[in-house]
Amino acid sequence: MNMHAEAGNNLVVVDDEALICEFISDVASSHGFEVRSCCGLGPLSKVLADFKPSLVLLDLNMPDHDGIEVLRFLEAQHPGTSVMLMSGEGGRVLEAALRFGQKVGLNMLGTLEKPMELESLEATLYQNWRGHWLIREEELRLALDRGQFLALFQPRAHREKDGSWRIRDVEALIRWQHPRFGLLTPEHFIPLAEELPMISEMTDRMLAQSVDHAARWMDSHGMNLGLSLNLPTSQLSDSDLPDRLLGIARQGGVDASRITLEVTERGTMRDTAIASEVLTRCRLKQFNLAMDDFGTGYSSLTHLAQLPFNELKIDKSFVTGLEIRSSDRVIVRSCIALAHSLGLTVCAEGVESAATFQLLDHMGCDTMQGYWVSPPVRAAEIPHVATHFRYQGL
Ligand code: C2E
Ligand code: CA
Ligand code: CA
Repeated sequence: MNMHAEAGNNLVVVDDEALICEFISDVASSHGFEVRSCCGLGPLSKVLADFKPSLVLLDLNMPDHDGIEVLRFLEAQHPGTSVMLMSGEGGRVLEAALRFGQKVGLNMLGTLEKPMELESLEATLYQNWRGHWLIREEELRLALDRGQFLALFQPRAHREKDGSWRIRDVEALIRWQHPRFGLLTPEHFIPLAEELPMISEMTDRMLAQSVDHAARWMDSHGMNLGLSLNLPTSQLSDSDLPDRLLGIARQGGVDASRITLEVTERGTMRDTAIASEVLTRCRLKQFNLAMDDFGTGYSSLTHLAQLPFNELKIDKSFVTGLEIRSSDRVIVRSCIALAHSLGLTVCAEGVESAATFQLLDHMGCDTMQGYWVSPPVRAAEIPHVATHFRYQGL
């Protein structure tokens, strides 16, 4: 299953070897690229008449025209095009052609040596087109089976009775430890995963990992930290969810009352009746509920009032840079007042500076989350961060 190809994802392969064209087309289109292939300069100019590529993969050695001639043509007709060179000629020839391309003003992205391996082709496309890269369902499945998903934890500061601020809990944020691309953030794979049945297994494993770590922070450091977990929208129609989550929490030895389930506004909108049943049952099992990304979805004040939320998380788009934008201050102030009047606590996400923190402290915000407090970190670093964060407050 693939998400739709996005504009800016157009790729042209110029190579006289049909097999190479086919190989690249298969790989690239399975990752969401729109691909055209052609075998020389004449066909290329026809393709470019109605297909604007964001990337040209160019073979240096072709029978009729060599790659340098094609680079000249691109420079003249389509200046600024991004080009990746391919050749079996070895490093020096490729390097020279690369420098030529740079000199005439093309955006030369690098070289791929032939014979080409699937892995280096994928790595190249990923590195240059990270924002458009599409993950396939099979890859996600394999990654889940191989245990490549892990939780980072972002500490959250809470206001104490004396007005000072301490870390009392952490939000679990999923990462994919990809064998070739490094640590991937959720924007690359969560939108797809949330459409697939495997999301429930992913959610379960995130909770299992998180309670495991929480038990260790307790055993080794005497730290009784709470946990927040992001619940995908699609899970809100799963009536087994409350029991399953409770089972996992118990198995890890962590009380449900130490766990907060975060759902987005959009999540509660999809199928209100079943979502409200599932959420209410979670609450009855003592899980806390937070409405995440508040302010970004559709107006859902009714849901906020009618569903048993404990916490409102103001979206970072209103929080970051709050001290310089008076319109955002008005919004944040109203959110805090609204939440408090409904008996909810308020968390501000995206607190990136001391100035933002101080202002929110002043406005009566209860919880702060953001790079200024701490970025998301690995489980092993949590005890250190949690011990050392101190803020005296107003
Ligand atoms: P979210 O729940 O709103 O999580 C907060 C995001 O803001 C995180 O991005 C975090 O790294 C980032 N962030 C934290 N502090 C700051 C800051 O000061 N400034 C800025 N600009 N950003 C900050 P991340 O980890 O990339 O997660 C993105 C989204 O992916 C999350 O947004 C959440 O919706 C989703 N997600 C994360 N983990 C999971 C998961 O386990 N399951 C599901 N279903 N979704 C998840
Ligand atoms: Ca969240
Ligand atoms: Ca959020």
